Amino acid sequence: MDNKRKDLIDILKEKSPLSGQFTDYEILQLIEIMPLCEYDENATIYKEGEPATSLKFLINGAVNIHLNNHLVAQLTPGDVFGEAMFSDQGKRIADAVAVEPAEVLQFDLAAYEEMLRQDTKVALKCKHIFEELYKNNVIANEHFFTKDTTKYLALVAHNEMKVPLVQFVQSNLKKINKFPLVATGTTGELLYKEAKILLSKKVKSGPLGGDQAIGQMISTDNIKGIIFFRDPLSPHPHHADIEALGRLCDVYQVPLATNPATATAVLDYLVTNPDKEPAQVNSLLSDYGREQAKVVQDKSK
Ligand code: PGA
Repeated sequence: MDNKRKDLIDILKEKSPLSGQFTDYEILQLIEIMPLCEYDENATIYKEGEPATSLKFLINGAVNIHLNNHLVAQLTPGDVFGEAMFSDQGKRIADAVAVEPAEVLQFDLAAYEEMLRQDTKVALKCKHIFEELYKNNVIANEHFFTKDTTKYLALVAHNEMKVPLVQFVQSNLKKINKFPLVATGTTGELLYKEAKILLSKKVKSGPLGGDQAIGQMISTDNIKGIIFFRDPLSPHPHHADIEALGRLCDVYQVPLATNPATATAVLDYLVTNPDKEPAQVNSLLSDYGREQAKVVQDKSK
């Protein structure tokens, strides 16, 4: 047996899901029927939605897997990807990109059929392993598949403003309850106890990242409006986070009420215009997108 074959057997035997389940001879049978493909750095190996007609063993290089713009796996030699070939849907559910030049053994439909003819037991063993791998990966990444399109009303209050927020919510309960609600940790707890409102979502306490979490929700278009009773007379350890949240409201043009008077106006606006797009088109976002595209163009080699 030549060295190349020996190396391939070692990689698959030691690091791949075949490890411990296939003999050297069975792995060799597979290697013989799998074409070795090469990908350049930054090459897209496949994209979500494409037909999943092959499973791949990474032999050299590095491949990243992205699901809904989230990096979900950084693969190294021996790892398998593309197991959606063995799913009922038969469609790619993620993107695979070579982050450095990569060599990949390809278990495509032709190879699978050939294996079924040569050795049905080995072919079915593969099918079983990769079906399981697919199911486990789907379960592990379930949260990336479901895109939350809910638009929440966010409720936040600094400590000295928590009682005014509870009072505001109590006197506007009907209107507030029209919206799915999100609140920072302590505010949410107090609102539940004192105003009996149920949150659809809770984030951490403001100083522990809750304000940033709501900011992140703005960036994914999940915030309809914010009622954030800020205490203007005390210093706050998370001043930068509070500023940042206000800034994102301006960037994305999200209505932000920071005291009971503006909260009355914003709540009335949201109740009477639940689905209305903002009166003025947000040119900040499109201008910024164009500028950044220029930056990428100017600075790429
Ligand atoms: P809290 O956070 O509701 O957990 O007190 C409020 C804040 O952002 O300061």
